Amino acid sequence: MMRQLAVNGENQESFFGRIQDILEQYKLPKIYTLMAEQPSKLAFKHQCKSAIQKTWTNILVAESVKKSTLKYINTKDLAVGKPHIIWKSLRSMVSEVKMGITKARMLTGTFMTQVIKHKYNIEHSDQICKLCTIYSEDLMHIILDCPALFSTRQIYYNRLKIEVINVIGESKWSELFGNKDAILLLILDCTNFSKYFSVDQQNAITKLSSVLCHQLYLMRLKLLEKTAKVPNKQCGSDTCK
Ligand SMILES: [Zn+2]
Repeated sequence: MMRQLAVNGENQESFFGRIQDILEQYKLPKIYTLMAEQPSKLAFKHQCKSAIQKTWTNILVAESVKKSTLKYINTKDLAVGKPHIIWKSLRSMVSEVKMGITKARMLTGTFMTQVIKHKYNIEHSDQICKLCTIYSEDLMHIILDCPALFSTRQIYYNRLKIEVINVIGESKWSELFGNKDAILLLILDCTNFSKYFSVDQQNAITKLSSVLCHQLYLMRLKLLEKTAKVPNKQCGSDTCK
């Protein structure tokens, strides 16, 4: 081994060269240190696992901060090997997994709003909400603004608001969530406000917000299907004149 290291250690294509690169990449002890002070198999396995998770978590966080589509995610809470609170707050039942998928799409910027469809020129769409036909349809519009989703929103948003107010009180609610950006941040990832809530409270809030997002998604889908079945519904608009 010493001979191979001496002869081939500098060659990055060789086995030992590659091993040294990997040890350096994950900031693990150098090969000579490991040879001099051999750790137990279990201890080294644990050290490698921690080093790999730490390295990739740093890369994940650094990349996430740069992506505008991930602006709602609490990047400080991201870690490789650690599931997001969305998944920890839900049970492994089909209905709850579906809620998690809706929420995860919204959180990661992959939920197809009209604004995103327009941005990527999908189906030659414009940005206007197909339900209210007045405003641009982005995530804020679906979750907090669209008048067509008002009745669904009122039921599930109120449940969420009551849960939060029960924890922090009405005056703190007004202070923290006096604007729509903060409310949207709370709905999509309440760990952004983790210092105000215990872990159990964060799980409860996340579950209620996942229900809100999924119910809005289902109602939006239902109304869009109705709209599609009634092609002349827009009569009176420019397209029908
Ligand atoms: Zn709308």
